[in-house]
Amino acid sequence: MIPALMPTYNRADLAFERGEGAWLWTDDGRRFLDFGSGIATSSLGHGHPHLTRVIAEQAAKVMHVSNLYRVKQAEELAARHVAASFADSVFFCNSGAEANEGMTKAVRKFHAEEGRPERFRMICFEGAFHGRTLTMLSATGNAKYLAGFGPPVEGFDHVPFGNMNAVRAAIGPQTAGIMIEPVQGEGGVRPAELRFLRELRDVCDEFGLLLALDEVQSGMGRSGRLWAHQWAEIEPDVMSAAKGIGGGFPLGAVLAKEKVARHLKPGTHGTTYGGSPLACAAGNAVLDVILAPGFLEGVDRVARHLWRGMLSLAERHPRVAEGAQGAGLLLGLKLRPEVTNTEMQAACVAEGLLTVAAGMNVLRVAPPLIITEAEADQALEMLDRACRRMTPSLAQVAAK
Ligand SMILES: *Cc1c(COP(=O)(O)O)cnc(C)c1O
Repeated sequence: MIPALMPTYNRADLAFERGEGAWLWTDDGRRFLDFGSGIATSSLGHGHPHLTRVIAEQAAKVMHVSNLYRVKQAEELAARHVAASFADSVFFCNSGAEANEGMTKAVRKFHAEEGRPERFRMICFEGAFHGRTLTMLSATGNAKYLAGFGPPVEGFDHVPFGNMNAVRAAIGPQTAGIMIEPVQGEGGVRPAELRFLRELRDVCDEFGLLLALDEVQSGMGRSGRLWAHQWAEIEPDVMSAAKGIGGGFPLGAVLAKEKVARHLKPGTHGTTYGGSPLACAAGNAVLDVILAPGFLEGVDRVARHLWRGMLSLAERHPRVAEGAQGAGLLLGLKLRPEVTNTEMQAACVAEGLLTVAAGMNVLRVAPPLIITEAEADQALEMLDRACRRMTPSLAQVAAK
């Protein structure tokens, strides 16, 4: 018989009862170091005193009023995001896919309103992940995810990640913009070269295209800067955010330059839950922590420490790992083909460490941004033991 909870996921047989910082406890009392953060989302870890207090207090006052009225928490959160980024205006929604839908609508509307309605296509990249709505499945372009859901939505062209010649060749009279993750998360924790991001900015300027960044996973401090594109010293025209911006509370956002945002007039876009007092109070509490003096420098420091540890781990276990890749606290251990990331993930669980599998047989490590170097070291020891767990089985394979 089908489970009451629809079986759309392959779940590990673990149920967590409570968390504190980077640690989670199961209902049967086992403790795990959470280096997955609920897929790069619980950016402040679990039970963060400031975030949980703000949420509890706001929930008791008023949670939801709809966008028929002013929402002071949303006005404040938008103003703070504008002050801290390239953007002039922010739209709030509830998830990453929804933010990318809004971003794509903003790009299409921009060209339509500027007298070029024929420009609606987006150039996207192989290995991308933009979400699970019908349109974002087409932007993602992964045949496995599209199968069985009818014809893909028109308007997305895919080229190899990092290939500038392919980008130029794909630009046509209908091209409206380029959509890219500065660090591909689900696709295998692959950072775009900073030079490639700069070249995308240039080619957008050359052809009058909009640069649309999907920073749902790479953003909100995870790279060690507030937004990953800041490392390339470029500005997008429009950007999506979600995952970490609510610290675990559902919150998404489209951040845009004025030239884009001004075309999204009343009635052009909306969402019932978006930008509620509760979600935006959570968003403000997350910003309080992440924008506090020295916080992002601390993320950068612990990230470099973890990065060195991951490189050395890969060197010490050449039969398990081919190398390490990623940016900031979004790191991946690229595994050898003989070791699958799901096996390695299970070996980590056996050592008390939570990680997330990613594409291209990568084990993704995305801890909360509040981890200490001591916790990074603990995770590295668990990863080391997990690698050793994987090694004897390889010896057995070789012996057969
Ligand atoms: C997770 C993710 C999404 C989708 O976000 P949802 O909240 O699951 O809809 C989109 N883009 C990127 C880069 C992501 O990592």
